[in-house]
Amino acid sequence: MVERQLVPRGIVDQRVLDAMARVPRHLFVPPDAAAYAYDDHPLPIGDGQTISQPYIVALMLQEARIGPFDTVLDVGTGSGYAAAVTAELAARVVSIERHPALASDAAATLAALGYDVSVVTGDGSLGWPEAAPYDAIVAAATSPAVPEAWRDQLAVGGRVVVPIGRTRGAQHLALFERRADGMLTETNLGAVAFVPLLGEQGWPVEDA
Ligand code: SAM
Repeated sequence: MVERQLVPRGIVDQRVLDAMARVPRHLFVPPDAAAYAYDDHPLPIGDGQTISQPYIVALMLQEARIGPFDTVLDVGTGSGYAAAVTAELAARVVSIERHPALASDAAATLAALGYDVSVVTGDGSLGWPEAAPYDAIVAAATSPAVPEAWRDQLAVGGRVVVPIGRTRGAQHLALFERRADGMLTETNLGAVAFVPLLGEQGWPVEDA
């Protein structure tokens, strides 16, 4: 996966490549999908949700520039895979998921593998103020814009990587960086297709 997909597609951050090589992705997918775990596409994980394509996970974490002393909020725990890769890179990871069953399965997988990730159930569009400020917020669900709560919970110099766009229309992956004056700068990282961020500061749940 690392040598055939990530490096040829332009992932250059060696810490991210090493982290992706260490995390056993096949243990984060349903048993009948384990044979496809390292293929270059997303896979279903239940509750109508997916584990993201490996390249996209690597791209998001590379662009978030996560350092070894960073505190990171991972929004949309899903299987827990991206949270595990993030835990390889950061000092502290909080991962938030709106589906209680996914959150509890992911927490069990992460604990069994020895990953120190705080998995919480809730509306990640509101962030998780208890562990703020975050050096990075990485979200695997599409939002109409950067939620106000995330701006408030982001450290100065902090990064947000999130798909921005419509629930069934055009979406792009975006990197936002918080400047000292509180303003966010945006970089477009290209077209993507994600499930919607459903919540108070995301898309209405009826849009699911
Ligand atoms: N990062 C995950 C992984 O490694 O398996 C994949 C995430 S999946 C593409 C998107 C997840 O975001 C889904 O599990 C979905 O339930 C969750 N989600 C959507 N809206 C959310 C919200 N407001 N708060 C928390 N999780 C949310």
